[in-house]
Amino acid sequence: MQLKLFNSLGGKTKMFRPVKRRTVSMYVCGITPYDVTHLGHAFTYVFFDALSRYLEFLGFRVIYIQNITNIDDDILKRAEKEKKDWGQFGDFWTKSYLNDMKTLNVRMPAHYVKATDSIPEMIKMISALIKKGFAYKSDGNVYFNIRKFPQYGKLSGFTAKQMVLLLRERGGNPDDPFKRNNLDFILWQGKRGAEPSWDAPFGQGRPGWHIECSAMINQYLGDRIDIHGGGKDLIFPHHESEIAQSESFTGKHPFSKYFMHTAMVMFMGEKMSKSLGNLVLVSDLLKRYSPNAIRWMLLSHKYRLTWEYTADEMNDAKIRMDKIERHIKRLDAKNNDHNAINKKAMADFSLAMNDDMDIPAALRIIELLDNEGNESHTVRYMMSILGFRV
Ligand SMILES: [Zn+2]
Repeated sequence: MQLKLFNSLGGKTKMFRPVKRRTVSMYVCGITPYDVTHLGHAFTYVFFDALSRYLEFLGFRVIYIQNITNIDDDILKRAEKEKKDWGQFGDFWTKSYLNDMKTLNVRMPAHYVKATDSIPEMIKMISALIKKGFAYKSDGNVYFNIRKFPQYGKLSGFTAKQMVLLLRERGGNPDDPFKRNNLDFILWQGKRGAEPSWDAPFGQGRPGWHIECSAMINQYLGDRIDIHGGGKDLIFPHHESEIAQSESFTGKHPFSKYFMHTAMVMFMGEKMSKSLGNLVLVSDLLKRYSPNAIRWMLLSHKYRLTWEYTADEMNDAKIRMDKIERHIKRLDAKNNDHNAINKKAMADFSLAMNDDMDIPAALRIIELLDNEGNESHTVRYMMSILGFRV
């Protein structure tokens, strides 16, 4: 059986076929570095790490790109509040995030790109969008004109009315008097006060959030990519707007063949988020649990289903992990006998993984195998595919 993936674009589970036969281009929206890494971030990036590892196991060459939104309203606001330089402030939290990811054995993407390093690409894209009539200048800003892209909403499936309501909730300012339509979004924010700004043919300013990803994707991966990932909360307006910009810029579609979204992590009955303050920090968990135990706990949840973090479950994952690790340690480290790999169990493992990355089912297979004893070679092999340090 071949790998099947659920595509958020279209809402169906289909056979995975990349644009080029053996190479997979994958872009996952990265963090906005202005605070600590919490379990919601870890769930997303550990999942996409496992996905890229599994694709490699299947024989694909994976080009994985992730960005850092290091210029953004949130960063500027927080840096100003803490009286810090916004650039150093972003670098500090980026380092903290990368440190957490490294500890969790999340591999570095092929390119880890700062938004501020791709400003010329963003300017190029915005200029082209203005020239082609998809964007307009107003009050020093540049907006994308949603009327020029009637497919807007094709990813989320939301109606225009629903999108306006959501935009209001998510700080998208649908009532901005300088917009022609409520759903138009900012491509370029005209210079305001002492904010950092760049020179552009359409005036001094800084890029909007959505254009950052579209430009970096085009720069590093070209007009069409295979997998675009991120948390579910990025579907609207972020990914919806990326599609509008990129497809209008290149004239090609779909800009990403597959969109994959990780579900939200809850804590104390609500979505774990900085604004609510109900955060479980990766760095705190790492004080008490091994990276493997945390990875086990995260991967035991299907990536598309919302779940709630509990300390009980974390402890449970630790107990399971300890037991498996004890068994693996008994193996002779130098003995890598491939004949010792249980082929039937590997087939079951692949079957689970090929079913839209059903990692929870794959972990159950690992546990059953571990309980049988004498199968630690296969257990270790499966764990390494999923990115555990074994
Ligand atoms: Zn993005």
